[in-house]
Amino acid sequence: MKKSAMAIVYHRQPFEEVEVDGRIELRPNQSPNGIVPTLKSLFGRIEAGRGAWVAWKAYDPEVGVDFERVIHIEDDHGGYTVSRLPLTADQVESFYHVTSKEALWPILHSFPQAFQYDNVDWATFREVNRLFAEATAAQIEDDGIAWIHDYNLWLVPAYLRELKPKARIAFFHHTPFPAADIFNILPWREEIMESLLACDQVGFHIPRYTKNFADAARALCGATIEAVETVDDTLSPTGKALSEPEVPVALGYGERTIRLGTTPVGTDPLNIERVLASPESEALQRRLVEEMGGRRLLVAVGRTDYTKGMAEGLLAFERLLERRPELIGEVKLLVTSVRAASTMTVYERTQREIEGLVGRINGRFSRLEWTPVVLFSQAIPFERLLAHYRVADVCLTTPLRDGLNLVAKEYVAANFGRAGVLVLSEFAGCAVELPEALLINPNSHRSMDRALDRALDMPIDEARRRMEKMNRVVRDFDVARWGDRITRELQLLDA
Ligand code: UDP
Repeated sequence: MKKSAMAIVYHRQPFEEVEVDGRIELRPNQSPNGIVPTLKSLFGRIEAGRGAWVAWKAYDPEVGVDFERVIHIEDDHGGYTVSRLPLTADQVESFYHVTSKEALWPILHSFPQAFQYDNVDWATFREVNRLFAEATAAQIEDDGIAWIHDYNLWLVPAYLRELKPKARIAFFHHTPFPAADIFNILPWREEIMESLLACDQVGFHIPRYTKNFADAARALCGATIEAVETVDDTLSPTGKALSEPEVPVALGYGERTIRLGTTPVGTDPLNIERVLASPESEALQRRLVEEMGGRRLLVAVGRTDYTKGMAEGLLAFERLLERRPELIGEVKLLVTSVRAASTMTVYERTQREIEGLVGRINGRFSRLEWTPVVLFSQAIPFERLLAHYRVADVCLTTPLRDGLNLVAKEYVAANFGRAGVLVLSEFAGCAVELPEALLINPNSHRSMDRALDRALDMPIDEARRRMEKMNRVVRDFDVARWGDRITRELQLLDA
């Protein structure tokens, strides 16, 4: 089979497999994670049929691998190859649920207190990363591009470099990258850093993460910062919690130059507008408005994760009802906290905490005909979620840390021409792009309380003006532009 010019290496397959009448059908990804369609859209930018996607697929070692490892897909994004790396349930548990989620995720999000190390089997993490590198090497030409995603594949670049010395290797972090003090808690820090320094390009959402990475690379491995650029106003260079006035753009390491890219991922506002204009969505919006009966709707949307600050948001809503009893019966908070697929204790604890808080608030303030909080633990399908964004008066996004937070950008995109108010944590990456939001510090009651009061009391003209400015940003820096920049950066790897 002809090899590919570019492989996207992402742990999940770019579709879901659903069994219908004993046959497997491939459907667009339903999981609450908008990144898969975004990545697939990049296949439209290379020569047709020259793209590959590398992911894992579970198999039972007792039965053996009972699926085709490499398949060809034709969908809205054209034709491309999907290579499925067979992994056992034990390998997935160890590499993904234990090492990635219990050890790496808390460090990336600056939660050292949640870092759990005892169950980590680093040999399995290495092994799975090596297998990913082999599967990728089998797909791309010798000088092809491998674009690897996220920390659970941190060791792939080093293995791939050995297998394909001339390959052009790029890596994108969808998470934050922490300060060196926190990153260095990882016992495998040198190995991880050496692997990332085997890349030609390493990408991040915002300048702070890029700078943190460059600082850690310098102090741990002796890499040198070769070029720095001034950050322009589109990314709030000063004054915000995640502001950085300068960003490193190239590192030197041995003979190698590693380009550093800083490109916050965007949404697809045109698609969002198209969905919202459909008759089904318009009918749903009308129904939601009717059901609210003149009350005000706040929404808080995310996965169940201690980093998302959902409990902090709920507590702020409870204080709002205590502080302003005239709002009892007049406002409603819709929370979607999508239950994690894994049964990890820490996610179960967070889920229970959220359910407990919702129960308490509803117990304290409900009336027969009104409940203050509605909680969904299952994902609302994206198209329906957009209708909720469109009719909500306030979107409450209060993560303690978040690489970017697409929900905030989607809310803005869905509120074109409307006066919705975005309350946004300063610790979400997109806060540097959206300074017109009501920025809050989720660690401070006072900051949250003030923002909720302001959000509910904001004169409509001010809300409209702020939303218009944010809407312009979200439109200008949409996913197509992210794609353009990334494609340009990947082509630069030719140089
Ligand atoms: N999402 C969804 N239905 C839900 C909750 C979330 O479709 O009930 C989607 C949401 O629209 C967004 C994604 O899940 O595209 C979450 O992305 P974000 O960057 O906010 O957080 P992540 O889960 O990647 O940390």
